[in-house]
Amino acid sequence: MINIHAVMTKSPILILLSLGVVSALMSVGGLASPAETAPPAISEKSSSVEPRAGINDSGLSSPAGIVNTKSFDPAAATKAWLATVPQEKRQKSDRYFEGGYWLLLWNFLVAVAISIFLLESGISARLRDFAERICTGSSWLPQFPLQIACYAIPYFLIVGTLGFPLDFYEHFVREHQYGLATQSFLPWFREQWIGFGLTMFGGTILLIALYAVFRRAPRTWWVWGTVVAVLFMTVVVVITPVFVEPLFNTYKPITNPEIRNPILAMAQANQIPARQVFEVDASRQTTRVSANVAGFLGTTRIALNDNLIKQCTLPEIRAVMAHEMGHYVLNHGAKLLTYSAIFIVIGLALTRQIFDTAVRRRGVKWGVRGIADPAGLPLLVLILSTLLFIATPLLNTVVRVTEREADAFGINTAREPDGMAKVTLKLGAYRKLDPTPIEEFIFFDHPSGRARIRMAMEWKAANLPCVEIVP
Ligand SMILES: [Zn+2]
Repeated sequence: MINIHAVMTKSPILILLSLGVVSALMSVGGLASPAETAPPAISEKSSSVEPRAGINDSGLSSPAGIVNTKSFDPAAATKAWLATVPQEKRQKSDRYFEGGYWLLLWNFLVAVAISIFLLESGISARLRDFAERICTGSSWLPQFPLQIACYAIPYFLIVGTLGFPLDFYEHFVREHQYGLATQSFLPWFREQWIGFGLTMFGGTILLIALYAVFRRAPRTWWVWGTVVAVLFMTVVVVITPVFVEPLFNTYKPITNPEIRNPILAMAQANQIPARQVFEVDASRQTTRVSANVAGFLGTTRIALNDNLIKQCTLPEIRAVMAHEMGHYVLNHGAKLLTYSAIFIVIGLALTRQIFDTAVRRRGVKWGVRGIADPAGLPLLVLILSTLLFIATPLLNTVVRVTEREADAFGINTAREPDGMAKVTLKLGAYRKLDPTPIEEFIFFDHPSGRARIRMAMEWKAANLPCVEIVP
């Protein structure tokens, strides 16, 4: 989800501590993508643009239920769906997605370079000296948190400034090049500032809490640090729909009964206590079709974006919304939070070893005294960035497996295999549709288009009998 990205991409420490999970939790809206220009009409018929080759609809609507499964070959049907995408479109989306692989590397290298620069140049140590000199505290304002804040704010400003060129290229220039962005520079820049302000605010609070832990528990800080990080993530996820998202977009209940009622019916059938479906004006920032689950505990909200409503048919919308409901029903928020805690505790345990070794070797040169010294923050970020970079395939796989569960739930709930296939092709406008298995393992935080369509076609081939409802 774009808003959270605006918040999270600004700060390495936030990304690191939140790992994939905060982003996953917040944008569990897996089915996010720019759409091809599809007819805006809402249509009940899912078979309007079915590909010709290899598909003999075995008739889900058949009252008898079991029909002729042999004539339907999921592999051939998947191929046929993929073949409906014109070659140039395929090449363009492949290029866009593969560019993302390199951006992953570049972002990592930039984070590393900034951290090394701050340490080697002595800027980090001087910033700490400055904080200690200026921020002496008073009777009502304790000295230690104040000094951490006096270090953190200039730190965020320096990192934000040095990281801006790559950020600008990745989130503005490139998005426009591929026709995915709708904002001109000024509104975009304004949102970057809002995101940056939030990052500074949230990041400073997080750092104050972490450094308090570092100071009190110099040996076991990695355990207590995990507790702080998880609590912080939980709070961020809970308050995001209420306080953060409204800063970037407007959420309003969908009033069109043709869209609202079928979605609410699915919610009701799955014990989701939803009375409203929300629409978000994502077209302010992007052309991507998306939906998401945001929030946690009492603030959970499922919303679909206006691009989805404009560009997709009802079967496609139902397929997407059923996927999002899957995240809710299968408790993915809590599960991802738990997985994150495991990743964080391992990451921080490793960080402790590496940090201590690095300070023993180069601490004097960098002017870093130990873990409780804010001058060591760039070193902390350097280590965490590296661990996070190495763990990319693992984190993606954890999220991808969760997304696959939501897909399975979604197809059973929406019962729209063709709708799922069609909307998957629309998502394919920014995700490589048919990657190699190794690419999918390393880079995909959602199943590939091919895998998703194959799942839908296998569901269709299984041709489950319908229940006869006797009132
Ligand atoms: Zn999802």
